[in-house]
Amino acid sequence: MLWPKSLSKRIKTKVNLSAYTSFKIGGQAQYFFEPEGLKSLQQALILARHAGMRVFILGLGSNVLVSDAGLDGLVIRLNRKFFQKCICRGNFIVAGGGLKLNKLIVFSGKNKLSGVEFLTGIPGTLGGALLGNAGAWGQSIGALANEIGVLDYSGKFRILSGKQLKFSYRSSNLNKYVIIWARLRLLPGKKNEITAKIREYLRKRKQAQNNRLPNAGCIFKNPGKDSAGKLIDACGLKGRRVGKAVISESHANFILNAKGAKSRDVLSLMDLIQKKVKEKFKVGLEPEIKIWK
Ligand SMILES: Cc1cc2nc3c(=O)[nH]c(=O)nc-3n(C[C@H](O)[C@H](O)[C@H](O)COP(=O)(O)OP(=O)(O)OC[C@H]3O[C@@H](n4cnc5c(N)ncnc54)[C@H](O)[C@@H]3O)c2cc1C
Repeated sequence: MLWPKSLSKRIKTKVNLSAYTSFKIGGQAQYFFEPEGLKSLQQALILARHAGMRVFILGLGSNVLVSDAGLDGLVIRLNRKFFQKCICRGNFIVAGGGLKLNKLIVFSGKNKLSGVEFLTGIPGTLGGALLGNAGAWGQSIGALANEIGVLDYSGKFRILSGKQLKFSYRSSNLNKYVIIWARLRLLPGKKNEITAKIREYLRKRKQAQNNRLPNAGCIFKNPGKDSAGKLIDACGLKGRRVGKAVISESHANFILNAKGAKSRDVLSLMDLIQKKVKEKFKVGLEPEIKIWK
């Protein structure tokens, strides 16, 4: 692909994606771009569309499994300053899609706004969290979204109002968009109470998840009221390995990369889990992680 001069120096080729995912797994991206702002992002989206190229939007890479063979197409990572802005307006925070959740939590605490503390310890960006309606402890981020600024994949900007947004368990109707910013509705809070909540969520998380090896969080969604982790555990699968991928001993819904796991190892373990849980409980587990191939 011949990119125009304005982009050609900034779009890299053959970039190793394992460095950009929490799993530390994956082959190379054919093209890799970190746009400085909206204009260059729009330009890249338009050109990719004209070339019939697939586009993958990457946040912090904490919920994706990238194929060992790499990806044909353009990976766009929203990590530049423009996508990490954050401002406070009354009880609202307007933040960039590339802002890390921990920064959002700190910022809202500083501004004495409460509501995002439950996200403590989730290693993602605001865009990735909204796309997958990330959550914990019975709360999820979609409930806070008041308005979202997006680009569609033809580069057209639009603002989605609260009424146009649909969130359900680990899912949203944002798949067709690149999330540029979001306006979150929060509540006034006291600094010391916000800090105490953050500490408590951190403590609970450390107790529930104690995985030192690279991973991508929960692999499967919880089926209905059941816990995927408990079902997997009840099948006796904790510690089961394929290649260098291993099912966590501390939380059975986590697969860990024990130095050098391949995407195919993780996929084989996922197949095995789905088969065993289906056999034993007649329950079909649906992946929570996004599988890119
Ligand atoms: C240790 C650990 C613990 C975790 N705990 C939790 C938890 O408690 N609850 C929970 O819900 N998740 C959890 N996760 C999963 C993950 O952190 C969240 O899903 C997070 O919100 C993903 O954000 P990200 O920026 O890393 O997204 P990525 O992994 O980069 O991408 C995930 C998806 O979002 C899309 N995306 C990313 N940014 C944008 C954007 N700006 N516009 C459009 N699409 C975008 C990608 O295309 C992809 O489809 C955990 C992960 C780890 C590693």
